[in-house]
Amino acid sequence: MAETSDGKCLLCGETVSKRMIKKHLDKCRVISGECVAEDNDKSGKYYCFAVQGLHDPKYWIYMDIFVGSTLDALDGFLRDIWLECCGHLSAFEINGQYFSSSPDRSLGDKSMNIRLEKILEVGTQFKYEYDFGSTTSLKLKVVSEYYGKKRKRSVKLLARNHQPDIQCSCCGKPATNVCCECIYDDTGWLCDDCAKEHECGEEMLLPVVNSPRVGVCAYAGGSYDE
Ligand SMILES: [Zn+2]
Ligand SMILES: [Zn+2]
Ligand SMILES: [Zn+2]
Ligand SMILES: [Zn+2]
Repeated sequence: MAETSDGKCLLCGETVSKRMIKKHLDKCRVISGECVAEDNDKSGKYYCFAVQGLHDPKYWIYMDIFVGSTLDALDGFLRDIWLECCGHLSAFEINGQYFSSSPDRSLGDKSMNIRLEKILEVGTQFKYEYDFGSTTSLKLKVVSEYYGKKRKRSVKLLARNHQPDIQCSCCGKPATNVCCECIYDDTGWLCDDCAKEHECGEEMLLPVVNSPRVGVCAYAGGSYDE
């Protein structure tokens, strides 16, 4: 499978490598007027997060979120952009504490109804899991904080990896479908032609989408509107 680490800065439209994107955003945020010098009644404080697939780091995004937002809001965003298929449970693990979409208090879980600024600071790294059956795990890091213009949406997508080039496991043409059985031995990537002849049948096929949940459960793509 082809690896890619390039992506697009959504503030300026440029292609930037994953390695350079943090530096790029630090500059681009100032140039684009996204970032403001100080705290006043027209501004708010934001955390910038780097998020990637824990086992599949070629899927990555940078996003910022108002520090007064809750883990619930972050969970909702991650579901919208990368994960939601059938309303599975999810949880964050932050400094050894679990924050769950359906907390089991007897196990010490907390709910996601907690403000980010209470539990995170620049440098905090943490984990997120969606679906405890066919789990998709993400790694998150708070990479910076800054004051920005107040806005309606608490979360803003800043950058995202380009759709990886994935080739058909049979013939090498660009894959458009993935068989959710055969993906587990990495032979399930299929072009349109090979998909028609695939032995597992059409009902096992999912579209190739730009997400670490591609080919898993019933995941057919995100609903986040860039
Ligand atoms: Zn930019
Ligand atoms: Zn599902
Ligand atoms: Zn093919
Ligand atoms: Zn198959």
